[in-house]
Amino acid sequence: GKDPSLLIFEDELTGIYNRRAFKERLTVEFERYKRYKTSFSVLFFDIDFFKSVNDTYGHDAGDRALKGIAQSTAGILRKVDVFARYGGEEFVVILYETDIVRAVTVAEKIRGLIKSTEFEYKGRIVPITISVGVSTSYEDDDNPDDVVNRADKNLYRAKRAGRNRVFSDLDTKD
Ligand code: GH3
Ligand code: MG
Ligand code: MG
Repeated sequence: GKDPSLLIFEDELTGIYNRRAFKERLTVEFERYKRYKTSFSVLFFDIDFFKSVNDTYGHDAGDRALKGIAQSTAGILRKVDVFARYGGEEFVVILYETDIVRAVTVAEKIRGLIKSTEFEYKGRIVPITISVGVSTSYEDDDNPDDVVNRADKNLYRAKRAGRNRVFSDLDTKD
């Protein structure tokens, strides 16, 4: 069985890390980056039109899709990557020792996988896509949240640009 003391870091629905675990790991990774300059990247993704998934197929189907998305994504990440459910239908990944170019490749892989996966609920196919924001650590960042905020901003841009796409620091300068 599982060590019950680890449950405080687990998201109950999906079994992956929760936001608390993500915050802790991010803090540690940021300190490592500041000291050793080993760049890391963050992926932030959010399900497209998830409200209408719930409205069309039911909340239970929505829950099942969340589990399926977590499972599929976990399958293509490396063991050292930190994968967490950030909130309702938002997920976040920390990619260790990963620059922005490779991070975008991983993001595209996840996006493509989710789009092509047939999530089934009671014999019906529930079509799911995600939008992804990608960012990487910068030398003048002085807070781990700086990295996450850029990823979140890029996610918002991916949504505005039409959803089912990846946006990164490479696409946007400000
Ligand atoms: P967008 O493409 O802009 O992200 O549209 P959206 O409909 O996904 O965004 P919105 O924020 O309007 O809706 C998010 C929905 O996610 C609403 C909420 O009911 C649903 N949701 C959040 N957490 C859960 C959950 O644990 N289970 C289920 N089934 N639905 C959830
Ligand atoms: Mg959302
Ligand atoms: Mg959404």
